[in-house]
Amino acid sequence: MQRSIMPDEATIISDNWQRVQESVARSLDSSEHNQSVKIVGVSKYVSAERTQLLLDSGCTHLGENRPQLIWEKQAWLEEHQHDKPKWHMIGHLQRNKVRRTLPMLCSIHSVDSERLATSVNEEAEKLGRSIPILAEVNVTEDTSKTGMQSEQLLSFMDHVGKLPNLQLQGLMAMSTHFAGGDQARREFAHVRDLRDRLQTSYPSFDLKELSMGMSGDFHEAILEGATLVRIGSSLWEGIER
Ligand SMILES: *Cc1c(COP(=O)(O)O)cnc(C)c1O
Repeated sequence: MQRSIMPDEATIISDNWQRVQESVARSLDSSEHNQSVKIVGVSKYVSAERTQLLLDSGCTHLGENRPQLIWEKQAWLEEHQHDKPKWHMIGHLQRNKVRRTLPMLCSIHSVDSERLATSVNEEAEKLGRSIPILAEVNVTEDTSKTGMQSEQLLSFMDHVGKLPNLQLQGLMAMSTHFAGGDQARREFAHVRDLRDRLQTSYPSFDLKELSMGMSGDFHEAILEGATLVRIGSSLWEGIER
């Protein structure tokens, strides 16, 4: 049997959620980009039970970096008759897991290859729906990190343009050190610039979303135009992981 949650965990999580919302709002006040920002609460560190406490606090968009975590938590939440969260896939999605995962997802931030795009399109077609996706780009110097290189993007855009069940809405990226500062800010500015150029070259897409910024660098990301921030650690401070 799972250990029951101490009553004060609900309070800690709800306070964390308030605090994160307030700091996101402050960053947004300092931004010159006139964007709105959605917080995707990253629940990969904690159990389904604690994830539910975050949902109860009012966070409706959740992100996970592994499909299995979404399957497990979705099953638990259904069993406990909780309202369905809006799940965002933010980590590597293996093609053989697309079929099982797609019905649960509202968006995939981490589409990083034409092959994955093709698989997602096929499964979305079978479900009779279309799915919002983002193209994950690697703007760090480290080519071993996840995401496409910017040179791959033109070919990717051409490819996705032919897949009717995908709605490409923008880009997702991570900074090199996840720690903020000038380098992060330059990297996020680079992502925005890339998006702006792609938008000019491909006017038929509506590339309105920039998924960038985590606990350590969401301030810099928002100053550079982020519309989706993926926040984990800050929401779970004071909670056993
Ligand atoms: C874990 C994770 C996050 C959240 O990171 P924190 O530093 O814990 O806020 C964001 N994006 C991705 C892709 C992740 O895997």
